[in-house]
Amino acid sequence: MLKVDIGDQCTHCGDDTAFGTGLFVNRIPSGTDGILVLKDGNADVRISVQVDGYMCADCQQDEDDKEFDDSDVDCFYNDEEGGA
Ligand SMILES: [Zn+2]
Repeated sequence: MLKVDIGDQCTHCGDDTAFGTGLFVNRIPSGTDGILVLKDGNADVRISVQVDGYMCADCQQDEDDKEFDDSDVDCFYNDEEGGA
């Protein structure tokens, strides 16, 4: 499969994780499958690719949160009606 190296970009959100962005320290190497679409002709040409890049800290956090979705419900509260 064709490999596409997106450099310092996050494979989940596309944020730049290069040194100096603040996302460099906590990034981890990450790969994902993707579709490269060529739009130069009348029909889109879709090519399956393997994307090599990094995962930023935010997206790592999002993945962790998914496992705790149910338990998080109790933590929600409504500021407008909470009052007192
Ligand atoms: Zn990200």
